[in-house]
Amino acid sequence: MNNHVTVLEIDANAVLHNLNYFKQKLNPTTKMLAVVKAFGYGSEAVEIAKIVQDEVDYFAVAYSHEGVLLREAGIKTPILVLHPQIQNLELIVKHYLEPNLYNFKIFDAFLKLADERPLMNYPIHIKFNTGLNRLGFWHSDVPTILAELKQSNNVKVQSVFSHLAASEDLNEQEFTVGQINNFAYIVKQIYTHLGYEPMIHILNTSGVVNYSKAQFDMVRLGIGLYGFGNTPEETAKLKNTHSLKSIISQIHLIQPGETVGYNRAFVASQPTQSATIPVGHADGISRRLGNKNGFVVINNQVAPIIGNVCMDMIMVDVTKIDCKEGDEVVIFNHQQHVEYMAHKCETIPYEILTAMSQRIKRLVKH
Ligand SMILES: *Cc1c(COP(=O)(O)O)cnc(C)c1O
Repeated sequence: MNNHVTVLEIDANAVLHNLNYFKQKLNPTTKMLAVVKAFGYGSEAVEIAKIVQDEVDYFAVAYSHEGVLLREAGIKTPILVLHPQIQNLELIVKHYLEPNLYNFKIFDAFLKLADERPLMNYPIHIKFNTGLNRLGFWHSDVPTILAELKQSNNVKVQSVFSHLAASEDLNEQEFTVGQINNFAYIVKQIYTHLGYEPMIHILNTSGVVNYSKAQFDMVRLGIGLYGFGNTPEETAKLKNTHSLKSIISQIHLIQPGETVGYNRAFVASQPTQSATIPVGHADGISRRLGNKNGFVVINNQVAPIIGNVCMDMIMVDVTKIDCKEGDEVVIFNHQQHVEYMAHKCETIPYEILTAMSQRIKRLVKH
């Protein structure tokens, strides 16, 4: 049982609000897949899944064992494994997870497994690369895929999908529309020759915002569920889901010339009160936030991080803040603060959220 005082609070109502915000942008018949990979974007995948399971049609995880955790927690919703490996196929079948088959190596291996068992109409998903150049078959692979599928009733193609490379970037509109059009062309070929019509999906969060016409049968909502719309306008309509809180462990009074933290990086120029907070770079607070690049909030006042971020702790300047040991510290509790941290770390909110270590306690607020 984790009883750490540094706690990541997950706001269940905010998650549901965000889900419904995106649903309302879609046709009522469009299915919703919630992406809960990487511990639900650094929160707690099982808890997120339980919050939204009655409102979504699918879950997606990146790796097989992430799907197993959901199944072991009793989640019955279909689970798409976006990036399975051949080594995991047995595990996938054991837990009735649905593999994305993205190249012939894994496609053939799965068909062989399905034939040996034998499986009947086992749900699989086929991914096409339309420009991200990460995972997926090429358009030219379609005839071979179709030929192999024709010989098998061990599997059933549940969906055909692709992934956009730059859906948040309107300067890349031409490229993105090209991806969507190529995908639609691939789908048409498959529909013509397969004999049945699998579900089709290509949109992630920014895709829903910017290219909702391409919603096809389902969309895959990730970061949007967690409160980030990838533009200030969209994010403003979403609710904050992740809040990181802690308490002051100790307060020190530092005299001018004395220093705080490793390498004596902060030097007091006047009498200074520092507060030590039990969260550090091992928990996902980047060292780049040290030396006043980042801040926390104590009793509604901003306390800059002083000195270097340690592995397990940060020190903040509370000279002007009325506070005492044991007081609550808000490390972040709204999206703009996470965006500020991301900006200072030259990254994106996705990385700030997913960096939250497993050492931090998770607490769901209903
Ligand atoms: C992570 C992921 C998503 C979710 O993307 P967001 O930008 O977080 O909405 C969707 N599809 C695939 C294939 C992914 O890997």
